[in-house]
Amino acid sequence: MSAASKHTLYDVPVSNNGARVRIILYKKGIPENEVKIVSPFESSLGGLKSPEYLALNPQGKMPLLTTSSASADGISAIPESDTIARYLLSEYEGLGPSFLPNNVKSNLIARLHDMYLTTVQGCMYKATPPFGPFQTRKDALLEYCKQLRVIDDLLDSSSASTYLCGDEVSLADATLFPSLVFANYMLPMFVISSNKEEQDTLCVPTKLNTWYQNIIKNDDVFSRVHNEITKALDSWNDNKRWDKILHAGLRDNAPTTIFDKILNGDIPATIVKDHPKYLAFRDINPAAPNHILIIPKDRALLTHLHYATSDHVEILGTLLQAAGEIVNDPELGYGGTGRIVINDGGSAGQEVFHLHLHVLGGRSFSWPPG
Ligand code: AMP
Repeated sequence: MSAASKHTLYDVPVSNNGARVRIILYKKGIPENEVKIVSPFESSLGGLKSPEYLALNPQGKMPLLTTSSASADGISAIPESDTIARYLLSEYEGLGPSFLPNNVKSNLIARLHDMYLTTVQGCMYKATPPFGPFQTRKDALLEYCKQLRVIDDLLDSSSASTYLCGDEVSLADATLFPSLVFANYMLPMFVISSNKEEQDTLCVPTKLNTWYQNIIKNDDVFSRVHNEITKALDSWNDNKRWDKILHAGLRDNAPTTIFDKILNGDIPATIVKDHPKYLAFRDINPAAPNHILIIPKDRALLTHLHYATSDHVEILGTLLQAAGEIVNDPELGYGGTGRIVINDGGSAGQEVFHLHLHVLGGRSFSWPPG
């Protein structure tokens, strides 16, 4: 930490939560000798995962604010953006705008943001699930947009003001804005559904979008932070980060199969189980007295098993569990024993390029398989 500065903010421009703190610093005009911004990667702490950094912020995340003298509660490291923001609003109360720390609507938006939006936001840019409580990127993306709509519903459609809670900037503006930079940058990359209605839900809702465009246009600090974040995100783009992200750069463009016709109800099938994530139906050309196929409803690259990535861990587990349930189901006649087969690729005998588990039973099976 710099000896000359009263506080150090460990942050870099791509940090979404750090950007809320920078908005406060810039708008209040808090000088560098009060709060100095330092990249944790370029500091003596040695990066987010160093023991020194983790001792101050056990989450290993940005931002982190350290103070040169401990507060009355003995705290000299604040590793959480809302608490940092509120600390700065109180510490520099007389400087610049207040950010309405006691405004209920502002506090509600900030809280909803921190509880329900940022917790799943990683679905737009992180390589690996889970994203908050969601195991699949599609579920997390749908939830993220639902939570944007929850916040949008709180906004006044007739308001002509630049800010979310009236004519003055609030903590809600500072909290939500960086996430909206992320959402506007990333959401348009994603195609999650051929169903137009579902796909159309994947967007920034109208009132939030109007606020977002206006605040960039009318407020220099928000425009500055928008440029800081966007520049950092452009470097992610240059590194082809989204090429490896399912539904963004990595999309299932393979031809549809006969199983899509079954899923869409265009051709009949004897359906055994219709689950939100999979369909189980009888094989039209059974290879055993009992022969049921289980397919994921959302193929999402799984034309073949060997295309599976960490994005598919949940569906693969769900399909296997379903196979076990079928073998165990007294009404389906397997009697608690069966052979579960996945033909992966042409030489293994795969004919339909939509992942499916064969659940075979009702006779004995030899080994090795032919
Ligand atoms: P695979 O050879 O592993 O790709 O398995 C494809 C399976 O799909 C075969 O066992 C077929 O009998 C089965 N199949 C193909 N068309 C249908 C259909 N319309 N309804 C039910 N099963 C089908």
